[in-house]
Amino acid sequence: MKDKAWEDYLPGQGTSWSWRRICWTKELVKQHLFSVDDYSIKLGYSWLVEEGPDKEWHQWFPNSIMVPRHSFILWLVAHQRMLTQDRLRRMGIAHDNVCFLCGNSEESLEHLFFKCDFSKRCIHILNSWIQIGVPESNFILWWIKWRHKSLMVKKVFAAIMTVVVYQIWVCRNQSRLEQYVVSPTVAMRRVKDEMKLRIRCNRVSSKSKSACRWVEQLCVS
Ligand SMILES: [Zn+2]
Repeated sequence: MKDKAWEDYLPGQGTSWSWRRICWTKELVKQHLFSVDDYSIKLGYSWLVEEGPDKEWHQWFPNSIMVPRHSFILWLVAHQRMLTQDRLRRMGIAHDNVCFLCGNSEESLEHLFFKCDFSKRCIHILNSWIQIGVPESNFILWWIKWRHKSLMVKKVFAAIMTVVVYQIWVCRNQSRLEQYVVSPTVAMRRVKDEMKLRIRCNRVSSKSKSACRWVEQLCVS
């Protein structure tokens, strides 16, 4: 940076990808926070959290059944902050913007998670497993509004949704790095295995017999 002020600094040509990412993040934060006179961690946190789609989901998101890295990816998706190819291209980082999973469309957040055939097939497999009827199109917005009287069902379902989103992202990255697309069946098998482990480790229980039956069914199917 030499003698330049961090606030106004822009990375030059030939700087590394990670350094440009750091500078890009600084620009993002700057738009929201540098104009505030008395910055505090609390203020920064509420900016990050409250810009979300709905505050109600924070009652059970993130919860104890979730793996933090899964819930973090879901948070990024819900807040439109995933670094998909369309965004990387606009930032001048990527040249190619075709979806790694289907090769048919531009990779945007909307496409990757809600319109790509890969993700639609994942949701189809998910529905036959959990018997809830998750829609293919923007299932995150749908899920945020979803209601159920059992807290345990809500928590387990929320954890399942985080693993599904995380797994779609993992498959996308795997395809990008290894030029190999796993099948939606394999991706959803990973989701099931992960969730069965999470349910067992957290000793999930409820007074509601139907809620317990639902969870038992998840673990055997
Ligand atoms: Zn696609």
